[in-house]
Amino acid sequence: MIQNVLTKDSTLSFEVFPPKKDGEFEAAFEVLKSLSLLSPDYISVTYGAGGSRFGKTVEIASYIQNELGIDAMAHMTCVGNKKEQLLEVYEALKANNVNHVLALRGDRPKDMTDEQFDSRDFAHASDMIEFLKANTGLHMAGACYPEKHYESFSMESDLKNLKTKQDAGAEFFISQLFFDNDYFYQFMEKADKKGITIPICAGIMPITSAKQIGTTITLAGSSIPKSLADIIAAYGDDPEDMRKAGIDYAIRQIRDLQENKINHIHLYTMNKPMMAKEIANNIYR
Ligand code: FAD
Repeated sequence: MIQNVLTKDSTLSFEVFPPKKDGEFEAAFEVLKSLSLLSPDYISVTYGAGGSRFGKTVEIASYIQNELGIDAMAHMTCVGNKKEQLLEVYEALKANNVNHVLALRGDRPKDMTDEQFDSRDFAHASDMIEFLKANTGLHMAGACYPEKHYESFSMESDLKNLKTKQDAGAEFFISQLFFDNDYFYQFMEKADKKGITIPICAGIMPITSAKQIGTTITLAGSSIPKSLADIIAAYGDDPEDMRKAGIDYAIRQIRDLQENKINHIHLYTMNKPMMAKEIANNIYR
């Protein structure tokens, strides 16, 4: 159980995404097999916010849980789903022995109308967690934001809402990606003062290509410290050098966290097992 895993002194977990097309499952299974050799404590599988491709998340989570024997955590969002649809996802997960969910609100898909958005059953992740806690046997984690969620006016109000998520039944948190550990240390201190007592996994995404800055990172709203900006400026045009420098930055970032007693690391693998291997072999384990 993931909750048990988090009673260990340290954990390393991975995030993967499901294939977009049916024909890509075999390749995805090979990626998962390679990742499994690194003995992660659990693997989480992302979910499209609208919920249309949930079958792919379930299939990948099932493979992790049942074929690889590693705890799988399926991400689940409520922005595009009614109660009944969430219960259908739950039934599909249960039928595949997947008992752990990262319960998220999700972002509003571009093609969602105001009417669809406003008629959702759950306004916030905490509402969905409360509902699933009362109606299913799922174990749930929630998301947290070391640099605050982009909709929040202040860190103070975001942390108040995070406490609501803990009180609703979240058993641990996984953080948004960040590149500057100082933000994470400050966040941990403030969360502690707000009464957050459940474990928090630090989300780390290696920057192995300059293109990531324009896509994922912009969406996540994470600050780029000067040391990382300098690496991108120096190596951004050379894919192999950028890859090496980005992995090296992630290793140094994780080791600094570990040296400061942050021992639950969640690696956004982007389905790249070689990168995950280089990192897993060079951090404290
Ligand atoms: P919430 O916890 O609902 O928070 C959203 C905002 O509402 C925050 O500003 C919060 O402060 C505020 N809020 C919360 N509760 C209340 C309340 N009771 N009253 C007033 N305000 C409140 N997205 C996907 O679509 N698929 C994925 O697989 C996925 N995986 C993710 C994994 C991680 C680790 C993280 C950090 C994010 C992931 N996301 C994913 C993105 C996520 O869906 C977005 O960040 C989304 O905008 C917020 O989701 P949430 O669950 O944190 O929302």
